[in-house]
Amino acid sequence: MADTPDTTQALTDDPRPEGGRRADSLVLVNTGNGKGKSSAAFGVMVRALARDWKVAVVQFIKASDWKVGEEKIGRQLGVEWRALGGGFTWDSNDLSHDIALARDAWGQAAELIASGEFDLVILDELTYLCSWGWVPAADIVEAIVNRPRHVNLVITGRDAPQALIDVADTVTEMRHVKHAYDAGIIAKRGIDY
Ligand code: ATP
Ligand code: MG
Repeated sequence: MADTPDTTQALTDDPRPEGGRRADSLVLVNTGNGKGKSSAAFGVMVRALARDWKVAVVQFIKASDWKVGEEKIGRQLGVEWRALGGGFTWDSNDLSHDIALARDAWGQAAELIASGEFDLVILDELTYLCSWGWVPAADIVEAIVNRPRHVNLVITGRDAPQALIDVADTVTEMRHVKHAYDAGIIAKRGIDY
């Protein structure tokens, strides 16, 4: 990044591809170690609601008893909200219970997608289920590829498997540059949840 900005570099060319086509739906993946994966997903949720889309959110790690801000506002705005996780794995003393919960959560997500009832389905922290070997990436890819054509998806989580990246339209890797947590600052209400 230059220290002195070049003021002649304003965007004058139209960046849109020529002969662009409209997609029936898109699959977005937000991955990487930096903050912003879920925040960006909920940004899309707000856009979708503004267009009167029907939206479903499945949270695979978050337990139903934590009340995060995005759930509060999502429910108020009519989002079908399912927080189906068992919390953080490092807090768990019964991993087989967590695995069963995760597999059931994936089953519910697959049904929400296949139902065609929703224009947008957000699968928050889904990638961890693949990383831990709890749900095969191939099952997720199959659900994506066979979804009703109008169903848009946003998937979040670190270490997105290659198979998922391959079928997605837009993949963004959030890069950790700096995080308040590194300086010992704990999660902040209104910013982190
Ligand atoms: P957010 O929900 O804030 O967009 P995220 O979805 O990118 O974050 P997760 O891996 O889901 O990140 O982490 C959830 C929580 O951990 C959030 O409160 C977030 O602020 C925090 N977090 C995210 N990235 C980092 C990081 N690199 N180091 C420490 N904490 C992080
Ligand atoms: Mg997240």
